[in-house]
Amino acid sequence: LAEKLAKQSQLPAQTLDGTRIQLCANIEFPHETVACLERGADGIGLYRTEFLYLAASDEPSEEDHYQAYAEVVKRMEGRPVVVRTLDLGADKMGRGKLAHQENNPFLGLRSIRLSLRNLDLFRPQLRAVLRAAALGDVRVMFPLVTTIGELRQARMLLKVVAEDLADAGVPYRSDLPVGMMVEVPAAVVMLDHFAKEVDFFSIGTNDLAQYTLAVDRSNEYVADLYQSSDPAVLRLIQSSIDVAGAHNIPISVCGEMSSNPARALLLIGMGVRSLSVPPSALPRVKKAIRNVSIEQCEAIAKRVSRLESARDVDLYLLDRLSELA
Ligand code: PEP
Ligand code: MG
Repeated sequence: LAEKLAKQSQLPAQTLDGTRIQLCANIEFPHETVACLERGADGIGLYRTEFLYLAASDEPSEEDHYQAYAEVVKRMEGRPVVVRTLDLGADKMGRGKLAHQENNPFLGLRSIRLSLRNLDLFRPQLRAVLRAAALGDVRVMFPLVTTIGELRQARMLLKVVAEDLADAGVPYRSDLPVGMMVEVPAAVVMLDHFAKEVDFFSIGTNDLAQYTLAVDRSNEYVADLYQSSDPAVLRLIQSSIDVAGAHNIPISVCGEMSSNPARALLLIGMGVRSLSVPPSALPRVKKAIRNVSIEQCEAIAKRVSRLESARDVDLYLLDRLSELA
């Protein structure tokens, strides 16, 4: 059985009609690359680097960042690795000097906002990513980008840091691809503008659902209202896919939504050709992909686009998946 599973894991994530889907993995620690490769991941679609910060008692140095990224890049042997810059704050704060109290932490000083206000934190990370990118196919991605101004500030800092490296004669990759998470409704609304200033997008359905539905995703009192298959969330996802397509900017989905096989097929039907899921979800998502045609996925998406509630969407998807599997 183990042998059979190992063999299956190396098959491509391809639909019955031969459309190749890029199926990557989300990781938090370098050692997880072992599980990713065993399960045949096409790359790392989301490296949540804040865990480097959360796991350590001291603030990680540039060298700590670099060693971790270099390990991931080497282990992935030429496959793409998307390094997301620190997404600290809200549910991921830890101790340290950045810890602070807020009334609404998910609407507060988190993620790219926190990095842009703490350049002593952000700069060493950007230096490390640029340096690690000299070792393989590394791309950098900024989380929770809400305004064009934030994206420009982050890109400007990246440029300044790269110039410092060049001046010091430190090897780095000068044409590092730069992307952003699409996880705030404001970014979806303005995506045509963002499309002119990034190399790729990745939809974070966890935060996109939270901010679209006005539901704190860590609040147990409203957990039943938190639904990534809510039609309002789906419309924002569809709009993002369409705008990215119109501007020829690659777009993937790295939120938890894509780790559910039925929802993954829905996303493919909506036009997505790249997904990133937790390593544990790779086998089931790949299996679902290999069992359908794009035409079937598109039919699912078409039907779902007419539904009015998350419940209707989930019931329909459950029904379809049992027929297809
Ligand atoms: C998301 O918001 O969907 C996402 C992938 O990022 P995180 O869960 O780390 O906030
Ligand atoms: Mg997020």
